[in-house]
Amino acid sequence: MSRVHNFSAGPAALPDAVLEQIRADIPDWSGTGMSVMEISHRSKEFVALAERAERNVRDLLGVPDDYSVLFLQGGATLQFAMTALNLSQPGDTADFVVTGHWGRKAVKEAQRFCTVNIAADAEESNYSHIPDEGSWNKSADAAYLHYTPNETIGGVEFAFIPESGDVPLVADMSSTILSRPIDVSRFGVIYAGAQKNIGPAGITLVIVRNDLVGKARADAPTLLTYKAYADSGSMTNTPPAFAWYVAGLVFQWLKDQGGLSAMAETNERKASKLYAAIDGSDFYSNPVQVDCRSWMNVPFVLADATLDGAFLEESKAAGLTHLKGHRSVGGMRASIYNAVGEASVDALIDFMQHFEKTRA
Ligand code: PMP
Repeated sequence: MSRVHNFSAGPAALPDAVLEQIRADIPDWSGTGMSVMEISHRSKEFVALAERAERNVRDLLGVPDDYSVLFLQGGATLQFAMTALNLSQPGDTADFVVTGHWGRKAVKEAQRFCTVNIAADAEESNYSHIPDEGSWNKSADAAYLHYTPNETIGGVEFAFIPESGDVPLVADMSSTILSRPIDVSRFGVIYAGAQKNIGPAGITLVIVRNDLVGKARADAPTLLTYKAYADSGSMTNTPPAFAWYVAGLVFQWLKDQGGLSAMAETNERKASKLYAAIDGSDFYSNPVQVDCRSWMNVPFVLADATLDGAFLEESKAAGLTHLKGHRSVGGMRASIYNAVGEASVDALIDFMQHFEKTRA
């Protein structure tokens, strides 16, 4: 295979071993004489795949028994609404901590269904820090507290889990899930679109504490209730079978790598060396406060923005793709998810240093 160093924020790089497995499985998956896209989701082979995927998520993340592991559609964006529909009733208030673009979007969607209290908003630092937890203005009777553990665009990541007391903590983990171990028991709902650390777009992982299932508002459509998925093994209707299958291969790959502790070690090392390269140069900079820099998404700017075009063109020619920052912030961003190997990060650092030398 001829593969580039892919720094895409999502859909993002998948492990080579997973792609090879897909290629081998396509004509004849699991001895069925057909691909996984051509078989009933009710078949024993597919049901076994679904059960294995759930088991592996439970193993990898240490999901307690009183939580359901669900596979949905609609991406993380649908969860902005589904969390509100399932955890609040009309007139309830939900607390939100906003540390970037995606948290803001989550607020907008939740506001369609409940009252939103912005407990904290990092806008004053242009989303380059996390407001001190002690200063959060939480409401007395929130239906839930929502935050974004990793903001994919700003590159701001929580190194701690907020304390929410009895209020269910809801986390959009789209761009950090499976990058390190987490204590699932601290959360009411964890959700993540797949297309970064899980697999292809089209499937969404939701981990929900069982006492929060079955409380959706009465007029919520069936497919927007967690209960429908919890009651049916996430087969309320025809699921995105191919995406589910690939996610299952990624879960197995993660186990083969040594699980999330091993991933965390590698991810921290990858991120540290990239930040060190950025901080060690006057040519590049990263605006995020050091204690909340993301391990997964590393934005950086060139001191001379007129060189952005040349940087992107030459990096692409060197086999490094998708380094352009999100259109809302500009500059560069390297997304270095689980499947982006250390060699890719090394190649990026080499390129950055080479580019700086040719321009200095
Ligand atoms: N939340 C975060 C943190 C994201 O990074 C993204 C996508 N980049 C979304 C939500 C939206 O995800 P989706 O496209 O799956 O709806």
